[in-house]
Amino acid sequence: MSEQVFSVTVDGDICMGAGYCYGSYPQLFTENADGTSLARDTTSTGSLTDASKASQICPSGAIEIHRGKD
Ligand code: SF4
Repeated sequence: MSEQVFSVTVDGDICMGAGYCYGSYPQLFTENADGTSLARDTTSTGSLTDASKASQICPSGAIEIHRGKD
C-alpha cells in the first residue's frame, strides 16, 4: 500500500472546540487548553483516510487537509 504525503491543519478561528476530532482521532489531533483542536505532525504517522473522516465529522469545517506534492 502506498503512503500519501499530506498534512492537516485546524483553523483556530472557526474551530468551536466540539472535540470530535481529537476524541476520535487522537493520533492526528490534540486538545488545546481552551478545548480547541491542534493538528499533530502527520508527516510519518498520519492516515489520510482518518484525516478525511475527521474533516467530515468536524461540525465547523475547521479541518483542512493539504496533500503533499512529492
Ligand atoms: S471537530 Fe472541528 S470544531 Fe471540533 S475540536 Fe475538532 S476542529 Fe474543532
